[in-house]
Amino acid sequence: YYLQLYKNNSKMSFKNKVVIITGASSGIGAATAILFSKEKANAILVGRNETKLAKVAALCITKHLVVKADVSKEDEVKNIVKRTLDEFGKIDVLVNNAGIMTIGTIREGNILSAYDNVMATNVRGAIHLTCLCADHLIATKGNIINVSSIAGVVLQPGEKMLAYSMSKVALNFFSQGAALELSKHGVRVNIVSPGPVATDIILNTAGVDTNITWKDFEGITLLNRVSEPEEIAELIAYLASDKARGITGSNFEAILVKLKGLH
Ligand code: NAD
Repeated sequence: YYLQLYKNNSKMSFKNKVVIITGASSGIGAATAILFSKEKANAILVGRNETKLAKVAALCITKHLVVKADVSKEDEVKNIVKRTLDEFGKIDVLVNNAGIMTIGTIREGNILSAYDNVMATNVRGAIHLTCLCADHLIATKGNIINVSSIAGVVLQPGEKMLAYSMSKVALNFFSQGAALELSKHGVRVNIVSPGPVATDIILNTAGVDTNITWKDFEGITLLNRVSEPEEIAELIAYLASDKARGITGSNFEAILVKLKGLH
């Protein structure tokens, strides 16, 4: 019995599964799309930059689809779902990974615009896509992984990332609410909250201190290391797989950061 159980459960089985990954043109999203394809899924690579998406798509070995879309734009989000259904007829997994970081402080007066911009992508984009995918995920008993951040669990050193932290707190609560609502229909929703991961996110952030390097972030992690995008992709794929069929509404903090004053 146990041998049979292990045999059945020893592999992630994404054969013929249709997986939407937003923000797939770089970093964690790109690593996730490539991993799902390696695990035989059909990946839908969503992003704003077609040239970058094409480079990632070239590394996908299964049938896949590239959809140019900005998740903060309603028509473009609708198009993601339409193109996916036209091509594959179903949706099994949604990975809301697209995210930006914004910089702003109360006294500089730029926290409002930082808030509006970060919420439009990190929260509203994820909510909108979840709403449009929900019935299709119910039909396949699929699941959702939302990529949040350790910044949604503890405030990061330096107050300039407050709007970003708030967006991840909101995404966490939305995810747990979605897990509650959709569990009745057999759909799981989980959160992955990475600590520092070596991607371009900081380079992509307007107004950030360009002297900051990933080396600076090593010190805030318990293991003194910055994760690689592939490590986060592995966790996402595990949660999306049947191996995690009993897990919903959970927030996986990929790393614990040292809290100022406590360590
Ligand atoms: P990244 O900048 O390489 O990737 C983010 C991707 O999202 C990019 O491809 C970007 O073009 C895309 N994107 C941004 N706004 C979009 C929009 N409106 N519509 C469509 N696509 C959009 O950085 P990353 O680190 O791979 O970020 C992925 C996720 O991981 C983000 O949600 C981020 O908040 C989260 N995260 C990153 C870290 C880290 O240290 N790198 C830590 C914790 C959480």
